[in-house]
Amino acid sequence: MKYTLLLIVFALLVAGCRPEIDMYPTGTLDTLGVQWMVIERDNMTYYYQGTGVKGASIYSDLHEEAYDKLETVFNPIMPNKLRYFVWTDWKQAQQMFNTPEWVWGLAFSKPCICHVRADMNLGHEMTHVMTYWADGVEPNTYSRFINEGVAVAFDLSDRDKMEEAENAATTYQLNSITDLWLDSMETAPHELLYPVGGAFMEYMYNNSTRSEYFALLKNQELPDAETIYGKERLHGMIADFEGRLGL
Ligand SMILES: [Zn+2]
Repeated sequence: MKYTLLLIVFALLVAGCRPEIDMYPTGTLDTLGVQWMVIERDNMTYYYQGTGVKGASIYSDLHEEAYDKLETVFNPIMPNKLRYFVWTDWKQAQQMFNTPEWVWGLAFSKPCICHVRADMNLGHEMTHVMTYWADGVEPNTYSRFINEGVAVAFDLSDRDKMEEAENAATTYQLNSITDLWLDSMETAPHELLYPVGGAFMEYMYNNSTRSEYFALLKNQELPDAETIYGKERLHGMIADFEGRLGL
């Protein structure tokens, strides 16, 4: 988060030295009680609640770059272009979508729409949409642990995922990864599930073949993963990861 903010601020400062900007708004759109400034780019269509053209131009540069990076990983084949709504007044969005205070972004993966607080990290919400449409195949099963985990793992922030997970596992009572994975009632605190999921999905990415990892993205429940990796190997990986977490 800090890294992204710094990047944006730095980019804004640099841009301030230039007499012109690269990208101009391509129109406006009235929806959700907001008149949005629209910037159409190669990867995404951006909708800005704010009116700062220079900031919006730089913001879209950073996100186009992020999209390129993640596209290489996930090969998303989407039914339509990703539409990215950038809120400067996130409170208004929270009321509209009825989201809890700690949520800074929302992904509607099937229709390829994200709504984000302007200072949300680069990768989290677009990863939700890209993993949903990875290889053009929609998921069969869903697990919050895997789904949020991969979005945290690829949020493109500079935070050390393992360190964040270790801190969370120390602060909150965590007995095992499978407790989080099987938490279908979503009772685990987000302060625990997100960072541990992020580190786990980073670990799985580093220890899977492409086809295994993509199969996991499409089939997210624990028994699915046992089929994909083989029961013994999967539980060996979980035990190894838990050891690294200090469980
Ligand atoms: Zn998420």
